[in-house]
Amino acid sequence: MGAIAIAVQACEKRLDEACRQAGRPPSCATLLAVSKTFPAAAVREAWAAGQRRFGESYVQEALDKMDELADLAIEWHFIGPLQSNKTRPVAERFAWVHGVERGQIAQRLARQRPPHLPALNVCIQVNVSGETSKHGVPLGEALALAQMVAAQPRLRLRGFMAIPEPSRDATVLQARFQALADLLQQARLAGFDLDTLSMGMSDDLEVAVAAGSTLVRVGSAIFGARKQTNKERK
Ligand SMILES: *Cc1c(COP(=O)(O)O)cnc(C)c1O
Repeated sequence: MGAIAIAVQACEKRLDEACRQAGRPPSCATLLAVSKTFPAAAVREAWAAGQRRFGESYVQEALDKMDELADLAIEWHFIGPLQSNKTRPVAERFAWVHGVERGQIAQRLARQRPPHLPALNVCIQVNVSGETSKHGVPLGEALALAQMVAAQPRLRLRGFMAIPEPSRDATVLQARFQALADLLQQARLAGFDLDTLSMGMSDDLEVAVAAGSTLVRVGSAIFGARKQTNKERK
C-alpha cells in the first residue's frame, strides 16, 4: 500500500477515535480529503483506499483534475474563496460549495446550476474569529444570509463552515468551533433544515469533532505538506 492509502486509513481511524472520545457514534463526521495542489495521481491513490469525497480550492486546477479523473465517481467539494467571475464552472461541476459568504455569489450559483443536476449543496462560511479573519460572514449576519441562500432554487443550504484563526490556546479554538455549533442550533430552532457543520482540519479535527463537526476537511494529514503558494500566504 502507498503512503497516501495508509494515510487515508489512519485518518479514518483518527476520526473514529475523535468521535468516540467526544461520546459521539463512530463515523459521526465525514472525511473530506483536500487535494488542492496535489496531482490527479494522488487523488486516484486515495480513491483506491476508499476515499470518495475530495475538496479543491482553485477552480482551474480542480477542473483539470476532474477531467483527468472523469472515470471515477468522485463527489467534488469547492472549499476555496469564490469570486463572482468563477461561479459558473463551480455551479456546473461541483456537488458542494463550502465557502459562500455573500448573497450575490449564492444568486449566481443558483442561476448557473444546470437543471439536470441535483441541487448544489451549500455551506455558508462564517467568521468566528472576529477582526483577525478576512473571510466569512459575521456571526450576527449569518442567519440573514441563510434565509437568502435557502430561498434560492437549485441550491440546498446544508449548514455552516468556518476556519478559525490558528491558535495555540485550545480553549480559544474550542470556543470558535462552539460558536459555529451554537449558530447551527439557533438556525435549526429558527426552522432551517440543516445537517452540516463543516469544521476541523488536519491539526484540529479532534477539537472540531468534540464541538459537533459533521465534516472535517483534511489535506496535509492525507497528502503530506503542501508547498505554500502565494494564494495561501496570509
Ligand atoms: C487547505 C484547506 C484545508 C486543509 O488544510 P490541512 O491543514 O492541510 O488539513 C481545509 N479547509 C480549507 C478551506 C482549506 O483551504
